[in-house]
Amino acid sequence: MPWKITKSGNRMPQSRGGSRTKIVTEPESLRIDARMERRCLTTAENLASEFRHYTPPFSLGPLLKHFEIARVTERPLDRDACLKRGSEGLYIEVNSLYPMAIRRMAIGHEIGHLIVSQSSTGGHSHWGHYDKRIEDLCDRLAVVLLAPSWAVSRFLEHKHVTHLDGFGKSILKEAALFFGMPTEMISPRLAQVNTTRSVLTN
Ligand SMILES: [Zn+2]
Repeated sequence: MPWKITKSGNRMPQSRGGSRTKIVTEPESLRIDARMERRCLTTAENLASEFRHYTPPFSLGPLLKHFEIARVTERPLDRDACLKRGSEGLYIEVNSLYPMAIRRMAIGHEIGHLIVSQSSTGGHSHWGHYDKRIEDLCDRLAVVLLAPSWAVSRFLEHKHVTHLDGFGKSILKEAALFFGMPTEMISPRLAQVNTTRSVLTN
């Protein structure tokens, strides 16, 4: 999940480009289809249901443990994060130059790659960051892991948000802080979950 820094200093998701070097594992098959996407998203929701007894921002510790990721190392990188395998097993390197919310998204994105690999047929790994469909899916998985639908619903209920549109900036900022995510990522998530709630209650 590459990010670019805008003139205003905000960090925005950047389109995937050729600047990202390929790391560790080349995928042999990229058979990502809608069914597989749904499978991955359901897996992420199920994993995030483990957070039910906790309050956001959710610690990523249990997920790291679940995927047997030995450690997360923070250091300056030319990207936001990468997944690697060392003598101790899997580990994630995350860019220490980015703020906490982006670092959390980046770790969630790398965990997303593990979910995709686990959900794909033929045991192929999908660690590479050059397939746009996988990159987008991993971003969506990170959002689900950090802001599971039940937690977003609870937040919206608590804030008495009932309308499909018109999220005020203050709500977005509050939600971003609450879930420990960049505003750019929590904003569409609030809208998405709110739409689902509205459909279910109408
Ligand atoms: Zn990626």
